[in-house]
Amino acid sequence: MSMFEDIPVDVGVIYEGERIRGPDMFVELGGPKIENKFELVRTREIDDIEDGKIAVIGTDIKAMEEGSRWPLGIFIEVAGKQVEEELEGVFERRIHEYCNFIEGFMHLNQRYDIWLRLSKRSVKKGLNSFNLIGKVLQRLFKSELPIIEKIQVTFITDPDGVKEKWEEALKIYEARDARARGLKDEEVDSFYGCSLCQSFAPTHVCIITPQRYSNCGAISWFDGRAAARIDPKGPLFKIEKGELLDPIKGEFSGGNDAVKDKSLGEITRVHLYTAFDYPHTSCGCFEATAFYIPEVDGMGIVHRDFKGVAVNGLPFSTMADSTAGGRQVDGFHGLSIEYMRSPKFLQADGGWNRIVWMPSSVKERLGEFMPEDIADKIATEKDVETVDELKTFLETKAHPVVERWEALVVEAEPEVEEVVAEDPVTPTIATTIPVTASGLGLKIILKGAKIHANKIIIRLVEKKR
Ligand code: SF4
Repeated sequence: MSMFEDIPVDVGVIYEGERIRGPDMFVELGGPKIENKFELVRTREIDDIEDGKIAVIGTDIKAMEEGSRWPLGIFIEVAGKQVEEELEGVFERRIHEYCNFIEGFMHLNQRYDIWLRLSKRSVKKGLNSFNLIGKVLQRLFKSELPIIEKIQVTFITDPDGVKEKWEEALKIYEARDARARGLKDEEVDSFYGCSLCQSFAPTHVCIITPQRYSNCGAISWFDGRAAARIDPKGPLFKIEKGELLDPIKGEFSGGNDAVKDKSLGEITRVHLYTAFDYPHTSCGCFEATAFYIPEVDGMGIVHRDFKGVAVNGLPFSTMADSTAGGRQVDGFHGLSIEYMRSPKFLQADGGWNRIVWMPSSVKERLGEFMPEDIADKIATEKDVETVDELKTFLETKAHPVVERWEALVVEAEPEVEEVVAEDPVTPTIATTIPVTASGLGLKIILKGAKIHANKIIIRLVEKKR
């Protein structure tokens, strides 16, 4: 522990996954109740930064009132001969891991979604300044990623300061994401896997392809490639694509092998471009979740920052619980906003033609990435509040899912056949099975039954309205 002997709390991998509940928290930094928060890593020229420097702009922990909430910016600058701009996203994602190594310090999510809590117990032990947290981060970064030769950390809690830098950070995230757009999954030989979230969801592995961005929205295929190169023993690793087993659902033999290996046999197959039938697993830090709405046979999307309830009456947190944990849950699918900009977005399920509801703020953010002819047909919280209202909305707008309802009605109509037995004097049994207005038909399977009938008549009856 010599590396941390001047730190008043323990530091180690065993604290990862530690949760700090409301009553145990001294302060909350960022989180859903605070609008402006971010973490950002930038690479610098070696002479432009001062190694070991830690700055605090705004109120430090010891001056914060117990139980209070604060905006937070964590701004880290790194330099080194081998440090390239391409690695910024990968370094940035490690902030999550390293903060969680600190006893009594919890870090959730990433980028503009960060949510941290510091426990009363750890503050009592003496962890009462950002300087101490900064020291831990600097030492972990340098020891775990030796290509970092110099590191300087700035914590911002001043609301105006956070807001200003947050606006800049949003532009940098967007530029990073834009760099990764355009490349197709078909054009590369390998994908990248990430198992960083296994401390929270032990069977979860992200498969990051050019067109399926990681669930957290913080790691692109380029980031995966750069990380696997500089830190081959780290959580990001190369996956050979292998054989293409299903181009629509996105099943690759290499992907299957990787999830099988990393989930220790728990997950055996993964379909990358669908929310059903072996969907990609969801850890806990996905930016948004897609959810199936059976009444309209469509998908809704709800993101982490959405404060209200979704059209099915559930808030994000409830649906996130149904989605998370590294499981494959049909119809509940954690994803990143960036994946929604991809042409492969839920392609096996109908892609955008299957999306029926999403919060207006996500819709605004996606803007031009939504096909023009569908954007107006997707409802938001401003258009509808219930599934019934949604149904009417979709019908009025002639959303493509409405055609699916019609197709279901047609499929449900039974095939008709009239069979006339040879012996006309034996008693007959006649049964009528109507086609229901909801489109549900009736299927009867009699296995191993012995039935004797001289005459069965099945007639097609007209549907009464
Ligand atoms: S969500 Fe996926 S890519 Fe992001 S840190 Fe977790 S495992 Fe890695």
